[in-house]
Amino acid sequence: MNEWLGRQVAIPKSELPTVDDDAMVVREALDLKTGQCQRCGTLFSKKEQLLPSGKYYCGACVQFGRLTSEEFLVSKQETTIQKREVLLTWQGKLTPPQQAVADHLLENQQHTMIWAVTGAGKTEMIFPIIQQVLSLGGRVGVTSPRIDVCRELFPRIHQAFPKEKTLLLYGASEEKYRYSKLTVCTTHQLIHFYQAFDLLIVDEIDAFPYEGNPQLRFAVSQAIKPNGRYIYLTATPPQQLIAEIQEEFAIEQLPIRYHQRPLIVPELHWYEHWASCYQRKWHLRKLIRLLNELLKANAVLVFCPSIAYMKKVYAAVKQYFATGEVACVSSQDEHREAKVQAMRDKSYRVLFTTTILERGVTFEHVSVIIMGANHPVYTKSALVQISGRVDRKGAFNHGRVIFFLNQQTVAIRKACQEIKEMNHLAKRWRKDAL
Ligand SMILES: [Zn+2]
Repeated sequence: MNEWLGRQVAIPKSELPTVDDDAMVVREALDLKTGQCQRCGTLFSKKEQLLPSGKYYCGACVQFGRLTSEEFLVSKQETTIQKREVLLTWQGKLTPPQQAVADHLLENQQHTMIWAVTGAGKTEMIFPIIQQVLSLGGRVGVTSPRIDVCRELFPRIHQAFPKEKTLLLYGASEEKYRYSKLTVCTTHQLIHFYQAFDLLIVDEIDAFPYEGNPQLRFAVSQAIKPNGRYIYLTATPPQQLIAEIQEEFAIEQLPIRYHQRPLIVPELHWYEHWASCYQRKWHLRKLIRLLNELLKANAVLVFCPSIAYMKKVYAAVKQYFATGEVACVSSQDEHREAKVQAMRDKSYRVLFTTTILERGVTFEHVSVIIMGANHPVYTKSALVQISGRVDRKGAFNHGRVIFFLNQQTVAIRKACQEIKEMNHLAKRWRKDAL
């Protein structure tokens, strides 16, 4: 029965455990009174979701295995909570502002949202609270809507807590479920947990596909124990999220980057023909000229609003460079991880990409160009996140952020405004600290 420990599994009535065990929680998978699926929270229609056998099913979470009204959700709760020694080997030092946030997390025992600028070092700040909860015998989940973010978080957490048997779970992850006190997983995977975590840390809470996805929200709400606690991490909280949580959550703002330098403010460049620049040499000239200028100091990430567009511009631009200097990567690319690593290793000078690299990834010494920053795919958050890729790590290297546009948009205006405001706030903090 240990396969049920600490998560929830759907099983048919005939396989329900017969032993009397207080730790076992058994719930009907579909609540016929409320018409709600208990795994994903979606309301099902008794008319439309009726099977020939007379059972109902949930059409919303079939990707996790079809759930019918004949089934039950079974989970075995933890019964023994034991205090223990938890080894944290992270050797770095938190900056005073980071330390202040980390201390508040240890003291306030409240749901908290950490609103920290890109490159503030959010992960390091959560190490002490993870250690505290684990030491008290609790169970911790660290989750993010994006697989790339989970993959990047896992090795850092594993390294900091080497004695924990940390589990990494995502759709196609190599390891399958096993009970663990420390779990890193995508928010999608939370659908398999019921009242499991004492502390649930949601990184990049504002990232697609969590934002506006009621299923994932339901999964997040079901995954923590009744007296469990949330920590949300974000660099770009939507106004709506702030309004929603501000009564229950403490909000910790951290406007200063780890290295204490300000965020790079985007430079707006008018580019009339950005959308068709690959068709004519003289339209492409503006991009080539700027690339060469930026390349004197840094490698360049060029963000494109769609994969089709990216491929065309990439094909046109690579003719101006030596073989292998320019590459492109998108979500459809099977060599995605290898290419991102090659960019980190400085194998490429220019990497064309889509919004997949908008967040959660760190490159040293890059500048950024956004082709068509006025395109609707770029929300304010996306623009702030992409700008935040520059000057995250290492010594200052004159990284620049260029927005190419042929129309001014609200998102562009608000993104620039937010970046400037954060820099202003950071300046005040630094003054106060002196
Ligand atoms: Zn469902």
